[in-house]
Amino acid sequence: MDKLLDKALGAYLGFAIGDALGATVEFMRPREIEAQYGVHREIIGGGWLKLARGHVTDDTTMSLALGASLLQGGCHALDRFVSGDDALVRSIGDAYVLWFKSKPVDCGNTCRRGIMRYMHDGTLAGPYNPGDAGNGALMRNLPAVLATLGNDTVFERLSIAQARLTHHHPLSDAATLGIGELLRHLLTGAAHCECQSWATNWCKQNPAFRFVPYRSRASAYVVDTVQTVLQFLTLHDDFEAALVATVNQGDDADTTGALVGMLAGTRCGASRLPQRWLHRLQVDIVRTITDQTSGLLALANGLNA
Ligand code: MN
Ligand code: MN
Repeated sequence: MDKLLDKALGAYLGFAIGDALGATVEFMRPREIEAQYGVHREIIGGGWLKLARGHVTDDTTMSLALGASLLQGGCHALDRFVSGDDALVRSIGDAYVLWFKSKPVDCGNTCRRGIMRYMHDGTLAGPYNPGDAGNGALMRNLPAVLATLGNDTVFERLSIAQARLTHHHPLSDAATLGIGELLRHLLTGAAHCECQSWATNWCKQNPAFRFVPYRSRASAYVVDTVQTVLQFLTLHDDFEAALVATVNQGDDADTTGALVGMLAGTRCGASRLPQRWLHRLQVDIVRTITDQTSGLLALANGLNA
């Protein structure tokens, strides 16, 4: 398999694996996880959502909604977005509405409020809101990174546009761009040691996210989420070790798990993802992710042609 495709597929499948693994222990305390599972390391479903084994949550299905809308618009819609037309952002808003109406297993409060606002008045962003510093915009940005790979300006504009449909807060924006930038580095072949130097430099410019010493908070507050993700991604080179350490922190474990799965999965590529986890994922989710990944990379190719 082509090296970039292997890494991009590692990102998207790693994301879904982290979501499915973490969902079991979402909102649990580390001590509760330890009492119930010892170390939680298998995709077994359950948790507060009573998830079927191998199923994913809003993190993955909302990303798939974004990916589907980008693919539906194709090169033409992306070109028009580049020249200032907002039709693509409206179609992303429409995709979030469709997703919301499909009765997803879960939906964060800020995402729900943003989607309802878009349904009500069609605006592409709400005003700045101090309560919008959750991780909901960051968590679903992977398809925007793939579709704009190789073009810094469009990556930033599309990421912020999709994010602001539901979240308007500088910390949400900074995290969405920062983790997106790290994902872009990893897709072009950055290794474990380069993750560490990237994180050190980025945190100098964005001190709110500094994760050393780690405070062991893994909540849906985007600062806690990013600190947890960077902590375990830089601590462990190995995909499984990084992901197990992350989800056993509990709290927003499906989202921290999805993001670590995405970044560590890019580092190792799809071909080196643990097979027992990959085979547990819902077959149609794996198929949709595989289709979207090559389609989104083709969009990026068209954008840079
Ligand atoms: Mn979730
Ligand atoms: Mn979550």
